[in-house]
Amino acid sequence: MTGALLHWIDGAAVPSADGTTRVGTDPATGGRGAEVTLGTAADVDRAARAARAAAHGWRHLASAERGRLLAAIGRRLLAETDTLAAAESADTGKPLALSRAEIQGAAEYFEFYAALVNLPAGDVLDIRPDLHVYTLREPLGVVGVITPWNLPLNQAARACAPALAAGNTVVAKPAESTSRTTVALARIAGEAGLPPGVFNVVLGRGPEVGTAIVRHPLVRKVAFTGSVPVGQEIGRIAADRVLPLTLELGGKSANIVFADADLEFAATEAVRAFTTNAGQVCSSGTRLFVERTIHKEFTAAVVAATRRLRPGQEVGPMITRGQWETVQQYFKIAEQEGATAETGGRVPDEPGLAGGFFVEPTVYSGVTNDMRIAREEVFGPVLVVIPFDTEDEAVALANDSEFGLAGGVFTADISRAVRVAEALEAGQVYINSWSTQSVQMPFGGHKNSGYGREKGIEALHHYTHVKSISIRLTGR
Ligand code: NAD
Repeated sequence: MTGALLHWIDGAAVPSADGTTRVGTDPATGGRGAEVTLGTAADVDRAARAARAAAHGWRHLASAERGRLLAAIGRRLLAETDTLAAAESADTGKPLALSRAEIQGAAEYFEFYAALVNLPAGDVLDIRPDLHVYTLREPLGVVGVITPWNLPLNQAARACAPALAAGNTVVAKPAESTSRTTVALARIAGEAGLPPGVFNVVLGRGPEVGTAIVRHPLVRKVAFTGSVPVGQEIGRIAADRVLPLTLELGGKSANIVFADADLEFAATEAVRAFTTNAGQVCSSGTRLFVERTIHKEFTAAVVAATRRLRPGQEVGPMITRGQWETVQQYFKIAEQEGATAETGGRVPDEPGLAGGFFVEPTVYSGVTNDMRIAREEVFGPVLVVIPFDTEDEAVALANDSEFGLAGGVFTADISRAVRVAEALEAGQVYINSWSTQSVQMPFGGHKNSGYGREKGIEALHHYTHVKSISIRLTGR
């Protein structure tokens, strides 16, 4: 176990109580990946106690000082962008430029929330002359943060920065295949001056470490980003504990293109929507609804642009072998359902990519909205194209999904754009460009895509609760 990545608990790198490790796989080559410590409930207990012990001091630190420390984390993340991006790409296989952008995004979360440490404030309520009543926004205490493998550091920062800014302490658990950068974040936080115990990381598998975090009595909230089945399982445990959750789950987001749109730009965006990070993005636009009058020519443009993206160059591998196999299963399902692969639908056969978990970016036509390929989240670069005749039909098709994370509308008619955007059952809708992402924009889902919100000022409220205090006054 020499050289294995260790937990970060109470300000130091520590091994597991029982010493087990896991050796990962490099997704780009199939070679040996990082060796990672696998924790158990005992390690979660250590981390939760450390976080609890640090909670009082962190909460009562002058807010300006808390903000300074969070801003310092943001600066250090930026200063270490190159090494962090290299580590992220080593774990995930994603192109270095993408990793760099995600690290810079992680820094932005800390910069943004560093400036908002004073924001979770209360109100004074005018009730009666003999009462002084006010509300306080208090931190919840120890927050558990459980993250997936697709944007490892970025998503850890997305939840941890507002949780810490609101005065909570954190026990984080990254996916076991992509743990390096979350541990690096803990080390950086320590170097930036965060007191020991404020930010802890426990490594390991979901059923052991993740479940132990959700069950731990000192943990007062869990922010979970991941799949629907695991979110549901966490929800069942949380129901018994009456534990508040933020659930950021999957998606099958709809992108609607009307005939009057800037079709050249819309085609470029439609391709970006489902191929960014090789489609391993919860808010990927993987259902493309196109007005029937332009359906053929628009599909042809999307297919042509998709063919220009080369696996191993612009498009990285599936991050895990399991995900690679899942995508190939969906290729078979689509074929059995009678969909036509206009491009892709297979793994690439270039010898240089052998061993890596690559798939070809894939566009299916001949799809109806009731097929599994149109309903289930593939989490790979796989798009279905479906024609529509009217605005109402487009909205009905888009909303006919168990998910509701994101949506896109492309049209030159601004009134129609707003009508459609407001009619879509989705947490965020993009008009005339896909996926405007900003730390300031609240992000979250409808339906099975989850509840609660990350990002923006909104997220801070999810990491606090409100207390009302009334004081009886005499002499008035
Ligand atoms: P996953 O649900 O398998 O795992 C996510 C995390 O949960 C990992 O850290 C994992 O170890 C842990 N986990 C697994 N089983 C657990 C259990 N029983 N109890 C507690 N924790 C457990 O998800 P994944 O396969 O790593 O990621 C892909 C999924 O994440 C996709 O469905 C994707 O849409 C979703 N996702 C959502 C968002 C969002 O913001 N909405 C962002 C990224 C990914």
